[in-house]
Amino acid sequence: MTNKYMYFIANWKMYGNTKSLNTLDKVIKFSKSKEINKGRLIYCPPFTLLSSFSKKFQNCLIDIGAQNCHESNDYGPHTGFINSKMLKNVGANYVIIGHSENREKGETDKIINQKIQSAIKAKLKIIFCIGETLKQKKNGKTKSVLRKQIKYGLNKISKKTNLFIAYEPVWSIGTGKIPKMKDLEQTVKFIKSNFKEKKPKILYGGSVNPNNIKYLKTIKELDGFLIGGASQNSKKFIDIVKKTYN
Ligand code: PEP
Repeated sequence: MTNKYMYFIANWKMYGNTKSLNTLDKVIKFSKSKEINKGRLIYCPPFTLLSSFSKKFQNCLIDIGAQNCHESNDYGPHTGFINSKMLKNVGANYVIIGHSENREKGETDKIINQKIQSAIKAKLKIIFCIGETLKQKKNGKTKSVLRKQIKYGLNKISKKTNLFIAYEPVWSIGTGKIPKMKDLEQTVKFIKSNFKEKKPKILYGGSVNPNNIKYLKTIKELDGFLIGGASQNSKKFIDIVKKTYN
C-alpha cells in the first residue's frame, strides 16, 4: 500500500478514434472517486483526439498530454508536423519526448533536446523517455546508455525544470516482460543520482498491467507509471491505479 502522490500516464500511441471517447466515461467516474485522491491521471491520445479529450475531461481532474512535438516552437513550413504551442492551444499540459519508438526511427539526442527546449517555452510539462535495448542490457551497458541519454537530452536545460523521466527499457515495451525488481530499484536510484539539484519525478514504463503492478508498486522511488497497451482498456487502467493504492 502506498500513500504517495502517483502519476498514471496513458500512452495511447497510434490507436483510437472518436468512438473511443465513450470508453472514457468509466475513467471519468473513477477520477471523481476517493480512490484516486492521491494521484493524477494523464491521457496522451494521438494528436487527432487531443481536442476532443480536452473537452471530454473539462469537468474532471484528468489531464492531457501529447505523444510528441516538433523541435521548433515557431509556426513554419513543416508539412505534417505539430509544434508545442499548438499542443498547448488544444489543451495539452504534458508532452512525451524521446519515446524509443521514435528514437528507433532516427530521433537523436540532439533533436530530443531541441524538442524539450521548445516544449519548455510552450510551458508544457515534459515526460522524457529513456531506456536501453536488450542488446545494450546484455552487454552491461544500461547505465552508460542512460547516462548519455540524460546528458545529451537535457543539455542546457535548466536544472529547475519540472521534469518527469520515464524509464522504459526498450525490451519491455509491448513484450509482457518487466525488469527484476532489484534491477529496477537500482536503475531508478542510478537515474536519480544523475541529478544533483532538483530531482525529477521518475516513472516506469514497459508492459505495466493489472497483474504485475503488485511488484512494480513496491519500488519506493517511483512516482508513477507510463502505461501503453493496458491504458487503452479503461477497466485495466483503473485496476492498475486501484491496485497501486491497495
Ligand atoms: C509505452 O510505449 O510507452 C509503453 C509503456 O508501452 P506498453 O505499456 O504497451 O509496454
